[in-house]
Order: sequence, then C-alpha cells, then structure tokens
Amino acid sequence: MADCIFCRIVSGEIPATIVARTPDAVAFRDLNPQAPTHVLVVPTKHLAGITDADDDEGERILGRTIRLAIQVGKSLGLSEGGYRLVMNQGNDGGQSVFHLHVHLLGGRRLTWPPG
Ligand code: 5GP
Ligand code: ZN
Repeated sequence: MADCIFCRIVSGEIPATIVARTPDAVAFRDLNPQAPTHVLVVPTKHLAGITDADDDEGERILGRTIRLAIQVGKSLGLSEGGYRLVMNQGNDGGQSVFHLHVHLLGGRRLTWPPG
C-alpha cells in the first residue's frame, strides 16, 4: 500500500535499521524504542491488523512473522533472559500503524500488566 509506512520500509523506500529479512517478513528497529531491544517484525504482505489474518493465508503469514521474531530473539541473545512479543490490535489495543506487526521487546525486566 502506497501510503503505508511499513510497506514503504519493506520496499526500502523509507530507511530503517533492518535486523533480518525473509521472503515473508522483515524485522527492523523501532524508531521510538520502549526497551533496550525493541524490534518490529512485519509481514511483507500488507494486512491492516491481526483481525485481517483469520484465514489460511493469514495463518501462514502470522506463523512466518512470529517465527522470524523468535529467530531474531535468538540472534540478539534474548532467548535465555526472556522477552515479550506484543501485537496491538485497533484503537483500544494501542495500535498506531495499521500494518500488522509484532513488537519484540527485551533487555530489561518488563512489567505486567501492560498499561
Ligand atoms: P503500534 O502502536 O501500532 O503497535 O506500534 C507502532 C510502532 O511503530 C511504534 O512503536 C512506533 O514507534 C513505530 N514506528 C512508527 N513509525 C515508524 C517508522 O517510521 N520507523 C520505525 N522504525 N518505527 C516506526
Ligand atoms: Zn502496509
């Protein structure tokens, strides 16, 4: 989608610090990190949010996106200490960019419940 900021990062039109990439998903550093490690993992295909992933293709996309997040967690050395994967959906969920994404947060002790 031309006016989607994450589609433009996926295509390279907007710069980002890319951490990892597969044919199905891209991982890059969040511009406004909320933890020592804060990476966003997005599918290369535009889906507005997780409610748009309730079909077979969505299942495949979610699996591959979350799998890349797991791999990035490992490659950044977070697996042992732990980390959190977060997906915000819609306004009440705190979603501000409407291209499905997983937040990978780690490097400090995270509190629960989230705000
Ligand atoms: P949401 O609030 O939708 O769950 O998360 C969107 C995230 O995208 C936020 O953490 C925000 O800091 C990040 N973000 C917004 N615009 C950009 C951008 O242009 N580049 C990068 N790297 N991150 C962005
Ligand atoms: Zn998009």
